Amino acid sequence: MKTPADSSPELLPVERRELALWVHGRLCAEYGCPVAFFATKDPLSELISSLLSHRTRNQDSHRAYQQLRARFPTWEEVRDAPAAEVEAAISPCTWPEQKAPRLQQILREIAARCAGGPCDLAFLADLPIPEARAWLEQLPGVGPKTSAAVLLFSTLRRPAMPVDSHHHRVAQRLELIGPKVGEAAAHKQLAALLPPDWDAQQVYDHHEVFMFHGQKCCYFHTPACGRCPLLARCPFGQSRVQ
Ligand code: SF4
Repeated sequence: MKTPADSSPELLPVERRELALWVHGRLCAEYGCPVAFFATKDPLSELISSLLSHRTRNQDSHRAYQQLRARFPTWEEVRDAPAAEVEAAISPCTWPEQKAPRLQQILREIAARCAGGPCDLAFLADLPIPEARAWLEQLPGVGPKTSAAVLLFSTLRRPAMPVDSHHHRVAQRLELIGPKVGEAAAHKQLAALLPPDWDAQQVYDHHEVFMFHGQKCCYFHTPACGRCPLLARCPFGQSRVQ
């Protein structure tokens, strides 16, 4: 099948920004904005939770997180425990044998960087967002999605936008990003389309409605383009319904 990327001229940056805001408006009307924040974790807890959720169903990563908290009431106890005990506590998530030592490595690294001071990551509230993200992304296994999730989803509530696989797929089909731009690289490109003065709620809404759309309409295998409110401006959808 001929793909839209084969035929559509590339959008100019100003056109992409306009399209991103048009999509935001349409999807907010469809799914309802503002979207209630789903988490109220402190930033360190959000970091651990995000790492557990990697390639894991929500209910399983939630159970792993709850078990870990029940077994070890503090993050210091997780850091200093035998790895096998941490692995057993997080067994509901995928690859607990890899995630347990990784969690402990991260907790040790954070403790070293905090040099004996409090290690709750609350200080990230005072750093410029690029610096806060860079601080987090220097931790082993932490990429742009996790750094943005820590800043946005935690009690820090800072306007950094994560891009998950649903968000990425919808954005790619709309040609907000090019066909070869991966999830990690998409973070910068998609964030650049948003007004710089947007607050955390607006950025959160943007991410959430893209994600909802990927879950409820723009499916991976058979997107429901016929009932999609974005069809008029979606090259991928247009190529499927013609
Ligand atoms: S028109 Fe189809 S491909 Fe485009 S966003 Fe909607 S569901 Fe996805």
